[in-house]
Amino acid sequence: MIADRRALRRKDPEGLAADRAAAKVIPVWRGRSLVRAGRPPTPVWLEGERAQAALGAGGEEAIYLGVDAAGAAVFAIDLSDVDDPVDALGLEDRFEDLRMAGAFMPAADFEPLAYARGICRWNRTTRFCASCGGALRNEEAGFAKSCTECDEKVFPRTDPAVMILCVRGDRCLLARQPGFPRGMVSALAGFVEPGESLEDCVRREVGEEVGLTVERLSYAASQGWPFPQSLMIGFRAEVAPGEVRLEDDELEEARWFTRAELEKPAMKAAGYFYPPPMSLAHRLVREWIAE
Ligand SMILES: [Zn+2]
Repeated sequence: MIADRRALRRKDPEGLAADRAAAKVIPVWRGRSLVRAGRPPTPVWLEGERAQAALGAGGEEAIYLGVDAAGAAVFAIDLSDVDDPVDALGLEDRFEDLRMAGAFMPAADFEPLAYARGICRWNRTTRFCASCGGALRNEEAGFAKSCTECDEKVFPRTDPAVMILCVRGDRCLLARQPGFPRGMVSALAGFVEPGESLEDCVRREVGEEVGLTVERLSYAASQGWPFPQSLMIGFRAEVAPGEVRLEDDELEEARWFTRAELEKPAMKAAGYFYPPPMSLAHRLVREWIAE
């Protein structure tokens, strides 16, 4: 895990150079994360000569992630320009899609990989100034860029999105988007619009997606979700009596589940499952079941 992001260190070139010489490195390749096969897979961080080789092969500037629990500096490096980094660096492990490989990882394993993936993606996709089209220059160890033509300065974006577990009495509402894996149902979710409060966003999404009215709303928890750049903000919403109506084509199914129906054997028999342990949706459902 990353114990401290040490944001002030990003503006200290000499300190960063010293950190880099003894760095632990989380490599990212074309959006994928380096993991060791297993159930669940485990993250692979590079150290020593391998870390230095990865930093050398990265081409782009290394991104400073902070320090781990032992106080060691941790960097992310994007190896996307290397055709086969496993071969080039003599690695034993594989680059895998984090959403698949990370599904059953503990949060402490998953979160640093998600952090590295998200910040690498922002650096890779943010090359030109949105105001004038000029090239951007990297600053602050991967956490800021400034335009070489005008004064524009840009920072990594995070898009807020709400996740809502609707409940009424002894049942909660889970729904399917058409793109979900077969059988998966989850809490409702949607992006916050400009000028909108989180509370208004929850009421709007519940109304738009399932035609229900929120009576009571409480904040539950949040999770950084860099796929590609979201922050999921989780709520519990008690809804007024009323029929579920799928108002638009964002959802193909929504139904109520009792706690007993959410237990694994019952879900399996009905052909459903809800999202895996590393997700906020999982936490919202489990917390409700546990009450
Ligand atoms: Zn510009």
